[in-house]
Amino acid sequence: MNRAVSSPHSLPKPVASPTPRRVALRGDLLDFPGDPGWAKPADVAVDGPCVRWRPDHWLMIENGRILGAEPADRWVPGPDWWRVEHPGRLILPGFIDTHVHMPQLDVIASHGTALLDWLETYTFPAEQRYADAALCADRSALFLDALLSHGTTSAVVFPTVHRASAEALFDAAQRRGMRLISGKVLMDRHAPPGLCDDVVGAQADCQALIERWHGVDRLAYAVTVRFAPTSSPAQLAMAGHLGRAFPGLYMQTHVAENRDEVRWVGALFPEARSYLDVYHRAGLLHERSVLAHGLWLDDVDRRLLADTGAHIAFCPSSNLFLGSGLMDWPALEAAGARVSVASDVGGGTSLSMQRTLADGYKVQALQGHRLSAWKALHAATRGAAESLGLAHEIGSLEAGTLADVVVWDWAQGAVGLHRDGLARDLHERLFAWLTLSDERHQVQTWVAGCPMSSNPFLERNP
Ligand SMILES: [Zn+2]
Repeated sequence: MNRAVSSPHSLPKPVASPTPRRVALRGDLLDFPGDPGWAKPADVAVDGPCVRWRPDHWLMIENGRILGAEPADRWVPGPDWWRVEHPGRLILPGFIDTHVHMPQLDVIASHGTALLDWLETYTFPAEQRYADAALCADRSALFLDALLSHGTTSAVVFPTVHRASAEALFDAAQRRGMRLISGKVLMDRHAPPGLCDDVVGAQADCQALIERWHGVDRLAYAVTVRFAPTSSPAQLAMAGHLGRAFPGLYMQTHVAENRDEVRWVGALFPEARSYLDVYHRAGLLHERSVLAHGLWLDDVDRRLLADTGAHIAFCPSSNLFLGSGLMDWPALEAAGARVSVASDVGGGTSLSMQRTLADGYKVQALQGHRLSAWKALHAATRGAAESLGLAHEIGSLEAGTLADVVVWDWAQGAVGLHRDGLARDLHERLFAWLTLSDERHQVQTWVAGCPMSSNPFLERNP
């Protein structure tokens, strides 16, 4: 295989081609029909109910949707198929990043602060620039192309408080045909004046955005509360009312990320039993609620998540980078709550879901839990789709879902190739891939059956 570094300074641009009617994509197909849980890798059957492994198969795509798959030694696509061959490469469902901030590519990898100082020092100054609609359009395109080049095809995204930032993000996602959940950030206190809205204006902006974008193509609106400290009780009540007024809205926010933050919320909302209870009292917890972090919760909180159907987006890279703490994934699941995995860039340090999951492994290992590659990849694909109520559309290679799929190299570089060559079984190979790979292993990203992004680091064979 010939490889050369071409232009490491430019992000790949989407290929502006119409969706081909019939595509046959050849490679090693892997997806996760069920949650493998915390079982030892060897106790999870390959081709059992949780892991589906179809090496050297053709993935058949028709009009953007997956039609099925056939083994390459038993079926040959006819002339009415566009053949795209990646023999020996891994093909996974596109990753789903359930918590990431579009404007924070501007502050990723900023030194030296914990959450509240980090917001004040880096994030809030950067987000104030997003009052400019032209900047929002430029950065939304950069951000979504970066997601695609990292193998992430669906995301739950924070823009900024500015209506223009949400408009730009929805517009850019629609142009790319992506599944995106987002909404204008609500914050009316404890932030610089340039980042504060007010209840009446914010409600009007939200309603206009919902009417323009919610349910259009693959877009959905999320009532987006930055976090409890930056919304007044009146604004939280308005957010809860919005969620009840329009069917199918999502809700996204942060909860219990950092101990100082938890103490601050306790002082601001003395009537609430806990940080999570602030959102519950405002009617913001339901089955389409995505709450990032959830580190400093107790058993009552965990049961409340389970009872309401709200789920936690585990952000291990961010939690390590900002020194926030360790999220106990099995404890949440034991209470019946769901967990997905998210980069939380720019608190997180990479849009790569492999890097995020590899950090997730380490965070769980520090608490005595061993995350398998099966469970990690399930959580970032099918598990996230189920948590978002979107398993009929994304997260698997199931017939009938939209063909959001990513072709990956199994290994690159001397160390990766050496390690890959020594793997004795599929889990060992997959875990080494998960631990050693990143966006440089991405070969091609497809969105609804359309090739969107190829790796600029690789020289493509014709
Ligand atoms: Zn965040």
